[in-house]
Amino acid sequence: MTNKASSAAILQGIQQVVGTSSREKPICLHEPDFQGTQAWTYVKSCLDTGWVSSAGSWVSRFEQELASFTGASHAIAVTNGTVALRLALHLVGVKPNDEVLLPSMSFVATANAVSHLGAIPHFVDIEPSNLGLDPTALSSRLEAVAKQHQGQLINGESGRRIAAVLPVHVFGHPAEVAKIHSVADKWGLPLVEDAAEALGSWRNDTHCGLFGAVGTLSFNGNKLITTGGGGALLTNDPELAQRARHLSTTAKQPHPWAFDHDAVGWNDRMPNLNAALGVAQVEDLNRRLEAKRLLAERYATVFADLEGVELMPQPLGCRSNHWLISLRLTNVDPIEAKAQRLQLLEAAHAAGILLRPIWIPLHHLPMYKTSPAGSLVFTNDQAYKLVNLPSSPQLLKQC
Ligand SMILES: *Cc1c(COP(=O)(O)O)cnc(C)c1O
Repeated sequence: MTNKASSAAILQGIQQVVGTSSREKPICLHEPDFQGTQAWTYVKSCLDTGWVSSAGSWVSRFEQELASFTGASHAIAVTNGTVALRLALHLVGVKPNDEVLLPSMSFVATANAVSHLGAIPHFVDIEPSNLGLDPTALSSRLEAVAKQHQGQLINGESGRRIAAVLPVHVFGHPAEVAKIHSVADKWGLPLVEDAAEALGSWRNDTHCGLFGAVGTLSFNGNKLITTGGGGALLTNDPELAQRARHLSTTAKQPHPWAFDHDAVGWNDRMPNLNAALGVAQVEDLNRRLEAKRLLAERYATVFADLEGVELMPQPLGCRSNHWLISLRLTNVDPIEAKAQRLQLLEAAHAAGILLRPIWIPLHHLPMYKTSPAGSLVFTNDQAYKLVNLPSSPQLLKQC
């Protein structure tokens, strides 16, 4: 029997990095920070000019800054990350009653966006090394259930069309997305990347979200930069970008006065107020990424010698944004890990350090229990072993 780390030892390690805290003034997982940015000036300019809503120069500027930072040809800002995913899936042709292949290890929004189109999530296992969709598991699952029928790819077990592959870059660590892309390509399936957590993450010098047809970002309150609520689509495809803009603006034909719409569109565009906040933080993005890298390094140093835990490493050949820095319990089976993690969560919350476990896998949630799925052994195993540490870039200043 190998040793497991005690909750006290882990907590002490965390406190060495982020300092001590209290129930009254806890340390959260990831908090917004506008200090040292032009956020107030930019937001005030919206109020001063009256340009607060879903058109305005901050929206275009935010989109340009996102495109130039990520290397995307086009960025389209929308109201949140879930909407960005729903729109992206629609744009690649996902229709009601289709199936979309995705990992069960994600935030619930990934599967919800599929459901919002009337489509069905079909779960495939992850790789423990990066927590993302496993290209080998994807390939075997397709081999096992998919067949061509009258020019369409059909799941032979359910009879439904398989319409897209949707990997997730979990906690900002790039999935094996080049390999996933070649599997998807081989089966003629479009690739949509949920890069909600991966602004500032690259695999082999390509930014997450740009490996397939389209990728999506989120600027929710706990993400690396936040617009209050917000999201974006990234793509190198000019035609897809044009359709994204059109459908997210009620499919209105450009005209000085006429209300002429040529499709059922959505009202998905990001308001100028939110975009102003976004621009102020993109300007500060490289500093944040550097602070996060140093924070992850400090945690790694502290936990290097503690038996029974490991810091989730940056995948090989990648630059991760370290959005959430995670600790993995090793040396234990999943059931033991679950008990050990519960003890740690209780001790940490009592000390005002608000650790969070990784998500309950989506196939365990009531609405996705009956979704089609391949083997999910690694998903089920990792679900009990991971806990996220306070990861705000501003923590670096405090220690
Ligand atoms: C945050 C997040 C989303 C959803 O973004 P919202 O802006 O909250 O709608 C989707 N997928 C993942 C993996 C996320 O972390």
